[in-house]
Amino acid sequence: MSLSPIPQTSPHASYQTYKEEIDRAIALFLERGRYILSDETVAFEEEFATYLGAVYGIGVGSGTDALTLALRACGIGAGAEVITVSHTAIATVAAIELADAVPVLVDIDPHTFTIDPAQIEQAITDRTRVIVPVHLYGHPADMDAVMAIAKRHHLCVIEDCAQAHGTEYKGRKVGSFGAAAAFSFYPTKNLGALGDAGMIVCSDPEIAVTARMLRQYGWDANRISQVAGANSRIDELQSAILRVKLRHLDEENAKRRELAKCYTAGLQQTTLRLPVEMTWATHCYHQYVVRVSHRADLQAHLTENAIGTAVHYPVPAHLQPAYRGRLKTAVSLLHTEQAAHEVLSLPLFPALTHTEADYVIEQLALWSATQRQPN
Ligand SMILES: *Cc1c(COP(=O)(O)O)cnc(C)c1O
Repeated sequence: MSLSPIPQTSPHASYQTYKEEIDRAIALFLERGRYILSDETVAFEEEFATYLGAVYGIGVGSGTDALTLALRACGIGAGAEVITVSHTAIATVAAIELADAVPVLVDIDPHTFTIDPAQIEQAITDRTRVIVPVHLYGHPADMDAVMAIAKRHHLCVIEDCAQAHGTEYKGRKVGSFGAAAAFSFYPTKNLGALGDAGMIVCSDPEIAVTARMLRQYGWDANRISQVAGANSRIDELQSAILRVKLRHLDEENAKRRELAKCYTAGLQQTTLRLPVEMTWATHCYHQYVVRVSHRADLQAHLTENAIGTAVHYPVPAHLQPAYRGRLKTAVSLLHTEQAAHEVLSLPLFPALTHTEADYVIEQLALWSATQRQPN
């Protein structure tokens, strides 16, 4: 069988799928000539918040900004400690520091790759203000447990939903549990723009008003700065494109789930450890992440056979040069460090065909068979 190379992800394929609708939206945008915070943005903010079961959406420049400004809108600032994980996109930790707050990193649950609720309480001090669960790879964090701890200690919860557009916890979409949630629309995310974009989602009118001010110089309705703000507005053009793609999000997530099911069925006999979906979870499969002990070898085999893979993430936040030795961490980040050595993200995007997925499975099975032979 001869196939074209299979990328790990393909935002361009997603554009091709909806090309006509997206091109039409762009043409309309060009005709209208309104470039910043206009009708498309207002509509997209409302549609996305409604999709999630929340009230307010505040479009911003990126997922990182969404998290930073959500923290600030919740009154989190200098010296406040924010408990989160080290096994995440570096943006999670960067955003906390950009809000002048102090990240405190705890370990993950090795099955779901999300914050281990059992590790949170030991990390709480009298300066702790927030817990930031990350719904990593599209699997939700254990929100009942996280919310119960937050309630007991009067902490705020801000969800990092950058990889979880449409993910559900016990039938309810993530992004509606905490005081606020941060979404990224980076091109490869399940809902991806054709450039940078992000959104803060919340249901508290005060947080919404503050977040709206913070994204634009701290301006009030008279364009007078009431707080020290930023310039982090979502592009009107990206809002127009994202409105088109939001209409197809459920359908695209269903395709991801279908492909994940193929992988899980096809890879049962291999030596790979496959991702789990807890009974309380509806995974949106932003990534399909396997665990393997000879990762570099497997990656090389797949590369030779024209299959793209990625490692999310090879170095935990607390071990990256910018942060090493100066971040507050739990005593042990054992599961975090082990995951960093073993995780491998297989090709997964809605336009991936079943024929391609079968070829990936076949190549994984071939490699796996060589692993079983005694050396
Ligand atoms: C992508 C991502 C972010 C940052 O989003 P940007 O839009 O790239 O700033 C934050 N957290 C997680 C978990 C992400 O995957």
